[in-house]
Amino acid sequence: MEMLNIDSLKAIIDDAQSIVLTVHVNPDGDAIGSMLGMYEALLQQGKNVQMVVDSPVPHKFSFLKYADRVQPPEALQSLEQPDILLVLDASTFERIGKVGEVCKAPIYNIDHHISNTKFAAGLYLVPEFAATGEIVAHLCEQWHWPITPSMADALYLGIATDCGFFKFSNTTEHTLRMAALCVQCGARPQVVSEHVELTSMNRLAIMRKALANVEFPHDGRVGIIALDEELMALAGDDTDGYVDLVRNVEGVDVAVLLKAVGPKTTRVSLRSKATDVNQIAGHFGGGGHIRAAGCTIQLPLEAAKAELLKELP
Ligand code: 5GP
Ligand code: MN
Ligand code: MN
Repeated sequence: MEMLNIDSLKAIIDDAQSIVLTVHVNPDGDAIGSMLGMYEALLQQGKNVQMVVDSPVPHKFSFLKYADRVQPPEALQSLEQPDILLVLDASTFERIGKVGEVCKAPIYNIDHHISNTKFAAGLYLVPEFAATGEIVAHLCEQWHWPITPSMADALYLGIATDCGFFKFSNTTEHTLRMAALCVQCGARPQVVSEHVELTSMNRLAIMRKALANVEFPHDGRVGIIALDEELMALAGDDTDGYVDLVRNVEGVDVAVLLKAVGPKTTRVSLRSKATDVNQIAGHFGGGGHIRAAGCTIQLPLEAAKAELLKELP
């Protein structure tokens, strides 16, 4: 494993003629935005580039240019193996799902997760950046790669979604400068936020039911919102953002979203004001950032909640 700097990363990309891009399963705005930005940049550099992801692109991000070119892992079996697999916004090998099994090329990783497990042959890691989209914008700026309006929308979306539209503690001057660079290059903040924040009556109905059962244990320092199997069936893959319903409640340090993704499998999202939730997620085999992390617990929802609460202050 080699830690890359901006020059050694450039040399690796320059040397590769064919590149497959991938991101973590259940991709968020940063995964999709950073990948689409990098995809178009690499096309401009004359590369043979494909995007292969082990999850569909969520509908709310499908307005971005080239989102329809993202292919499932099976596609890689018919493609020739690329020179390199470039993994964006994923901190562990498991997070890229089946792509890791079907792609045999050497893996390079561009990421911002403090919990990165250094699984790639080469890693360009910038944990002080709020988003992988912020890294890609920075690379384009430093390498004098032009940012087209469609790349700008994608990178802006990545940056904005990972820092809660510039509200979270990971928002820095550099984050805002890269967002400004995107806007200068044609990104449309209003169009991006309208797509990302678009909601539905179904989602409001789910929120109403989930809000009816929120809990504030540990003297109100923890806020828990849960999507049980019934609500998960109604929500489909549109399960982002529910954790935000409890994170700003006065006195809450750690906000928790529990999702029953199977009868004995619970997905956990953690957000915090003070506690290191990367460490708590790490206790359950997950990770992320100090103030935003996630993990999967192989227990039914109520049992997972009990185990999690033992680890929370
Ligand atoms: P979310 O709660 O939005 O799914 O994830 C919050 C942060 O934690 C993101 O940066 C995400 O990449 C990371 N994360 C979420 N789930 C996992 C997981 O199971 N493993 C690891 N390593 N990171 C995760
Ligand atoms: Mn992500
Ligand atoms: Mn990210």
